[in-house]
Amino acid sequence: MHPQLEILLELQDLKAQKREMEEVAEEHSREIESEVFQVKPEEAVVHLQEKIAEMEAALEPEVLKRYRLVSGRRPRAVVPVLSGMCYGCFMDMPTSVSRTNDEISWCEHCGSFVYFVA
Ligand SMILES: [Zn+2]
Repeated sequence: MHPQLEILLELQDLKAQKREMEEVAEEHSREIESEVFQVKPEEAVVHLQEKIAEMEAALEPEVLKRYRLVSGRRPRAVVPVLSGMCYGCFMDMPTSVSRTNDEISWCEHCGSFVYFVA
């Protein structure tokens, strides 16, 4: 897999994690006293944000630009392609797109980065 694609997938994962922690932090702040967490959810959110910024900095400028654009308007910036179909918009991927994860590709219809699964 293309290293930039790996970063994108990891970023997506971190963002999902962060959203989850933000919800936990919100609920947690309403509780009176809870010692369930070793790290405060608020702190975990900050750590995740730091990691996200760090990984974004590792993206090539063009990739980062597209990533910012796509993640601003879609819930997932990286989506799988299964049987030639983009799972971001459920349209067929043109055959002109090389179906390999060794290159960075994106869907012409929805703009999401794609990775191919058999
Ligand atoms: Zn698409």
